Amino acid sequence: MGLFDLLARWPLLRQVKTGDATALGETAMSERSRSLEPRTARADRVVKSVCPYCAVGCGQDVHVQDGRILDIEGDADSPVSRGRLCPKGSATFQLVTGTHRVKDVLYRRPGGREWERIPLEQAMDMVADRVKRTRDATWEATDAHGHDVRRTLGIAHLGGATLDNEENYLIKKLFTALGIVQIENQARI
Ligand code: SF4
Repeated sequence: MGLFDLLARWPLLRQVKTGDATALGETAMSERSRSLEPRTARADRVVKSVCPYCAVGCGQDVHVQDGRILDIEGDADSPVSRGRLCPKGSATFQLVTGTHRVKDVLYRRPGGREWERIPLEQAMDMVADRVKRTRDATWEATDAHGHDVRRTLGIAHLGGATLDNEENYLIKKLFTALGIVQIENQARI
């Protein structure tokens, strides 16, 4: 390549030649970058959602192609976040696609040192048995003053940040119906 060609590719000269003072136009491009397009351009639909990670509730656009999530971006229409997501919210895509995500139920027996994989149905039955047994054993119909309380203090629930609004709604409804009063979620900023 000759000296003239080299100089012609020099960004500053290209800026002067094209009048691109901020270098945000043609001079910022190469053959490669000109053909690039955002991942979201391939989406066949965008589904509105809410970041599940904390109580701020930033709006999200979930870009979907052929029923699979392509990317999750901030929702510019959200009055809460106006298109912005913090680093946690920006990584929500990995909640669905992360290779470290555990997809089996793991159980460690009392005194056990190893985690065992067990079927979901078995785990659900084990949880139901324990809830029933604990509730029966700790049920309080009245308190020390004779007031009706109909509750159990033997069970508490701590939700995870990746539970969505609908799941939290159902959890609160179920646990309150069971007479459980200690219901919390760790999603806080
Ligand atoms: S975790 Fe971040 S992006 Fe998600 S709701 Fe909270 S502040 Fe918004």
